[in-house]
Amino acid sequence: MKPDLFEAPDYYFLDDLLSEEHKLVRDAARSWVKRSVSPIIEEYAQKAEFPDQILDGLAEIGAFGPYIPEEYGGAGLDQISYGLIMQEIERGDSGVRSTASVQSSLVMYPIYAYGNEAQRKKYLPKLASGELMGCFGLTEPDHGSNPGGMVSNFKDAGDHFVLNGAKLWISNAPFADIAIVWAKDESGRIHGLIVERGMEGFTTPETHNKWSLRASATGELIFDNVKVPKENLLEGKSGLGAPLGCLDSARYGIAWGAIGAAMDCYDTALRYAKERVQFDKPIAGTQLQQKKLAEMITEITKAQLMAFRLGQLRNEGRATTAQISMAKRNNVDMALNIAREARQVLGGMGITGEYSIMRHMMNLESVITYEGTHDIHLLITGADITGISAFK
Ligand SMILES: Cc1cc2nc3c(=O)[nH]c(=O)nc-3n(C[C@H](O)[C@H](O)[C@H](O)COP(=O)(O)OP(=O)(O)OC[C@H]3O[C@@H](n4cnc5c(N)ncnc54)[C@H](O)[C@@H]3O)c2cc1C
Repeated sequence: MKPDLFEAPDYYFLDDLLSEEHKLVRDAARSWVKRSVSPIIEEYAQKAEFPDQILDGLAEIGAFGPYIPEEYGGAGLDQISYGLIMQEIERGDSGVRSTASVQSSLVMYPIYAYGNEAQRKKYLPKLASGELMGCFGLTEPDHGSNPGGMVSNFKDAGDHFVLNGAKLWISNAPFADIAIVWAKDESGRIHGLIVERGMEGFTTPETHNKWSLRASATGELIFDNVKVPKENLLEGKSGLGAPLGCLDSARYGIAWGAIGAAMDCYDTALRYAKERVQFDKPIAGTQLQQKKLAEMITEITKAQLMAFRLGQLRNEGRATTAQISMAKRNNVDMALNIAREARQVLGGMGITGEYSIMRHMMNLESVITYEGTHDIHLLITGADITGISAFK
């Protein structure tokens, strides 16, 4: 792969809106990605392996629990710093960002927000340091966009629960030490349970043959009469709103992360177009390629403004689920379109692993599907503005 010469586009001087802390956090993540992700990621994506040597580095840049308070091992940062870290990591690879998102928003967040003090103290510091890795089991083979229909369930067996069911498409599952599992109790109400690797009847087979997020490990979670201690129940919140609350936080991170992937594709295409000569002049001097590049920077700038404003609303505790849906949907779609256009700017070279664009493009096909599909987020906006749900 070519050396990482990335220069971040900032057409509207958004850096002026960032605090010194935001810039420090962002720059630390940016240089770590250049140093530790860019040189190896293509090889790991090609061989479809998660590069576990990067876990310590992810922990050091604060990517595991950026906004979790420091007393629990988190970085205690605000929502804009969290977004900037996700942007920089996804600039490197969406699969690496997925690992960080799952650990922070789908594992640490529910333990922090819905767990009790003993659970917070037991798990959060180890999750923040990467000593423990986690995964989040919501999706099932027959219930993806409609997780409320899940059939995974647990029964009260006196001093423990007995968990049965299966989860599909679970990021980090093959190596996770713990899983936050969403399942129904005997009355049909959804609860979160902390399931630990090693519990009898709990297995995590890996999902192979993906063309997307190849450097992220994906798998199933199978529960065959797993005995889960009662103290592993997340008591603070139940019902579908509990897992959806975690998804708000993760989707917000994706809205920033997708900008990173788009920035990398744009920057690569711009540099290539200025250097590549055809018909005796750089292709950047042709109107058709300028149209592509000009539209890319326009869309990136709009997405940056949207993410920044959403970050302010999150900091004030005012961002709604529907606002987060809109940003996730818009920014991932923007990034995928830019990846497709940028790939064409590079001609034949665009399909090789010499450049990051094709990998970003394939990764974004998952990002536009997971954490709520492109369609589902549109329906969330539709329901929000009309007051009428069109899901059924
Ligand atoms: C690489 C990867 C990693 C993932 N990681 C995780 C994870 O860590 N944890 C986890 O729990 N899940 C994870 N997922 C699952 C992901 O969230 C689901 O794939 C997603 O929610 C969609 O569910 P589905 O694949 O079952 O598609 P379906 O729900 O079957 O949807 C199929 C199509 O139908 C459309 N559709 C569905 N309902 C409607 C409707 N009412 N109106 C109109 N159109 C509709 C959808 O938009 C989609 O286009 C991951 C997925 C992938 C690909």
